[in-house]
Amino acid sequence: MAEPTKLTEIEIARETLRGLASKKIPPTPDNYRTLYCEIAGVTAKNPFPERELKALQGSLPRTGAEQVKFARQLEAAIAKGSWEGLGAALNELLAKSGGDQAQWPGLVRELLQQLETHHAGLTAARKKEALDHVLSGSGASELLLSRLQSLIRSWSQNTVVERSERSDTEAADAPTSSVAVVAPASAAAPAARPAAQSAWQGGILDLREIIGQLLDNTLSIVLRDSPELASEASAIAASIRAAQTPDALAGLPERLKKLCYRALFVAEDQAEMASALLHLVQLIIENIGELVLEDQWLTGQIKVVRDLIQQPLSLRRLDDVERRMKDVIVKQSALKKNLHEANDRLKLMLATFVDRLADFSETTSDYHNKIESCAAKITKAGDITELADVLDEVMRETRVVQVNAARSRDEMNTMRSRVKEAEQAVERTRSELASASDLVRHDALTGALNRKGLDEALEKEIARLRRHSGTLSLALLDIDNFKALNDSLGHAAGDAALMHLTKVVRTTVRPQDALARYGGEEFVVLLPNTSIEDAVGVMIRVQRELTREFFLNNNEKVLITFSCGVAEINDAEDPYEALKRADAAMYRAKRAGKNRVIPA
Ligand code: GH3
Ligand code: MG
Ligand code: MG
Repeated sequence: MAEPTKLTEIEIARETLRGLASKKIPPTPDNYRTLYCEIAGVTAKNPFPERELKALQGSLPRTGAEQVKFARQLEAAIAKGSWEGLGAALNELLAKSGGDQAQWPGLVRELLQQLETHHAGLTAARKKEALDHVLSGSGASELLLSRLQSLIRSWSQNTVVERSERSDTEAADAPTSSVAVVAPASAAAPAARPAAQSAWQGGILDLREIIGQLLDNTLSIVLRDSPELASEASAIAASIRAAQTPDALAGLPERLKKLCYRALFVAEDQAEMASALLHLVQLIIENIGELVLEDQWLTGQIKVVRDLIQQPLSLRRLDDVERRMKDVIVKQSALKKNLHEANDRLKLMLATFVDRLADFSETTSDYHNKIESCAAKITKAGDITELADVLDEVMRETRVVQVNAARSRDEMNTMRSRVKEAEQAVERTRSELASASDLVRHDALTGALNRKGLDEALEKEIARLRRHSGTLSLALLDIDNFKALNDSLGHAAGDAALMHLTKVVRTTVRPQDALARYGGEEFVVLLPNTSIEDAVGVMIRVQRELTREFFLNNNEKVLITFSCGVAEINDAEDPYEALKRADAAMYRAKRAGKNRVIPA
């Protein structure tokens, strides 16, 4: 069989046109191309849009080196008509810009850290000047990134390392990163110093152990919510401990550095979270304050809580905040219920009152109109029968008004008695609230803890004592001759004296010591981390303070004294046994002539 003759381009074109016409295919460029390729026996390919791509490439910016490079890559790929080349250029660009973005947060953090670090020969003003220069002279982001990175690198090379034992050569050779301090002793260390070298190796061993502990014990607490980082910390700790040769330590500084960075972010997140939580607490407290303005006790408590959380936080302070907030919540919910009930009742009464008033005035104005028309009829009346009719009408209307008035009066009386009932209900709830004060942890008169508050504080302190070995003392004081003070100056003066004593004790003891009202004129002071001798000293200081800060009753100075027993709680002992010992010591103080402090 003879080989089919190859068609020329003109013949193919002609055949294509003929084919389009005979098959009734619309002669679009695409259809023409498809049929042309079919006849020519080649695969149809979309043409490379060289012109459009060139126009696009020509419109791209070329401000930085990276952009010029990208435009050139595109140009070359377009010239070759290569889609692969275009794809490669775009991928490279994307990878670079993604990489840049990922580097920014770390860079900004390091920049801030380096701005705060003290660098030899670099003042804060000089650093700021250099930073300004880089910021104003580096337009494109990749250029800015690389310039900032080299600025940070140049600063960190001047970091002041406070290690007086470092020799000059070591300091000069030492890597600049703080992590790199754990790097193994250089193999080039002078062989002529074996003793120094073995001391150095001993130091490295210690250092390895300390770093291991730091990673295992301390960092694991910071990273408790990031299990992946925590396990990396443990893995590094294990590798550091296991490393027997300098080679085994290779790579660890880099991992450690990475971990440090990531842990720093975690710690920063935690700090942010703590401050956000604190802010939330503040917000809640402010809002509670808005709701309960009329209750003095609550406003007082809220002020204390607000003051407490504005100071640096400690666990003890948080305990105190928690106790006071519980009191606020208990009292507030009771008050809210009262207010709601009272409000509902008042609303109902007001609505009835308005209804009645409207009814009443309607009837009376009706009555007035009727009477007026009756009066007109009377004036016009021609004979007695006409007048009798009018009088009948007047009598009838008057009776209606009387009935209405009587009904309104009865309703007013009912309402009055309902108001009274409502008042009594509010009063009852108030007194119930007072008698239910065992739900509350603070004494209403003095603001000191009450029995319940003392129980809780004791429980917490005992738990702390058992967790960390330490000491805990307590003092029980009873005011001397308080009955006589009440009898001579009155009960109100007695109350004021109790408040005065509370204030003096509070300002004399430390913030972490707790004060509770144990009975009428008996108080307990809890003194954590205080030996019995020191606790006696503290209570004597309170006595001395009372002779300086007199209680003033009608501008007259009144000296308040107390007798006091002090006991140290042993961590195996029931704290109430210690309280009993303090009580016995207090009675000994009374018997010995009062106004003294006696250790149990
Ligand atoms: P001593 O020196 O032996 O302690 O004598 P005292 O008078 O202090 O002791 P006593 O126990 O005989 O009396 C305590 C008094 O404290 C009796 C009680 O009326 C009074 N008292 C208790 N609670 C309060 C209070 O809340 N306010 C006032 N004003 N007095 C109170
Ligand atoms: Mg007493
Ligand atoms: Mg007394």
